Amino acid sequence: MPLPVETIRQDFPILSRKINGYPLVYLDNAASSQKPKHVIMAMTAFYQASYANIHRGVYTIAEEATELYESAREHIKNFVNARASQEIIFTRGTTESINLVARSWGDKNIQAGDVILLTEMEHHSNIVPWQLLAERKKARLKYIPFDEKGRLNLENLDRLLEGCKITAFTLASNTFGTKNPAKEIIRKARAKGTLVLLDAAQAVPHQNVDVVDLDCDFLAFSSHKMLGPTGIGILYGKKELLEKMDPFLGGGEMIKTVQWDHSTWNDLPWKFEAGTQSIAEAVGLKAAVDYLHHLGLKKIAEHEQSLVRYAMERLHEVEGLTMIGPPASERVGLVSFYFKDIHPHDVAAVLDRNGICVRAGHHCTMPLHKKLGLEATVRASFYLYNAKEEIDLLIDALKEAARFFRK
Ligand code: PMP
Repeated sequence: MPLPVETIRQDFPILSRKINGYPLVYLDNAASSQKPKHVIMAMTAFYQASYANIHRGVYTIAEEATELYESAREHIKNFVNARASQEIIFTRGTTESINLVARSWGDKNIQAGDVILLTEMEHHSNIVPWQLLAERKKARLKYIPFDEKGRLNLENLDRLLEGCKITAFTLASNTFGTKNPAKEIIRKARAKGTLVLLDAAQAVPHQNVDVVDLDCDFLAFSSHKMLGPTGIGILYGKKELLEKMDPFLGGGEMIKTVQWDHSTWNDLPWKFEAGTQSIAEAVGLKAAVDYLHHLGLKKIAEHEQSLVRYAMERLHEVEGLTMIGPPASERVGLVSFYFKDIHPHDVAAVLDRNGICVRAGHHCTMPLHKKLGLEATVRASFYLYNAKEEIDLLIDALKEAARFFRK
């Protein structure tokens, strides 16, 4: 049974909106996803009935709030198949999760001359924290290159892993859509004693991700790309590594004892959760995970695969349009493209006139675009509520844009 897209669409209030008189066609899911009423209602119900700060109050609603927050953690633990809930740290998002590792693990373990290995297709969030670490420690950054089809070239991987303490790479590229051969890279990294951090921002919302099966050391992702609210994200880390790491931020909640001259740290996972957390957001994220789990990630992935295949077939019809990245079968559900003679922002503006939301720009992958000799591209990215008919509308509007600017 394919995904019941028409029924799913009824769950997303925003999808009944009109933009400039046209039905909203939301194709910017790689930037952020829309929210089903289950998530919106779970957060509203929490604010209306059980809202309080967590872990502190000895009263009923504080206990209810704590239970909801901790059960969200349990849901996430099961969702990515972590061994223990201590391995799930709530952060503000993928960016903060990666910064946490670069600071807390990096400052303790990286020394002058060490190699940190990234890839040329990383999001800025998985480049800049490592650049900052490399500057602090006089370490060296190296990059696995990509080829003309947007696939990683692993020919020299063994050599690149020499002297490498950690490799951090994306499971799925937010610009090419490429699904990277994580297991192969992890196997080679393991053989050299190199740790692995996976940027799973574009993977966890769209396919089954199992941290035990992957055998990664850290995994980072964001709630807002997987139907949940903004302001909350996740860092998975192996318990034995997290235990040895110092806190990232200091403050309330992350301590066991505080004296004038020193403090001791709380147990995992709270050692990394300083200050009042995004409590209602955790409740919303839990509802989002339930929603995704109920539909099944396998079916969601199949649906997105059929959408991206169809989109790429039809994009060939648009004169002067060039797509970047690998064939559809090697992608998650997104496609980036450009016209030599029309600026991506102009394309996006024409699409918006037709109610179609796409992203135009560098998608936080400036070095990738620079290597391609491009400043920007247009990106259409799909999710479980997108329908083939919306791709037809995209193609019609792109043809119109091409006609309009070439007149
Ligand atoms: N990595 C990748 C691959 C992404 O696509 C994104 C979001 N565009 C991020 C990291 C950063 O996520 P966030 O802004 O939620 O921290």
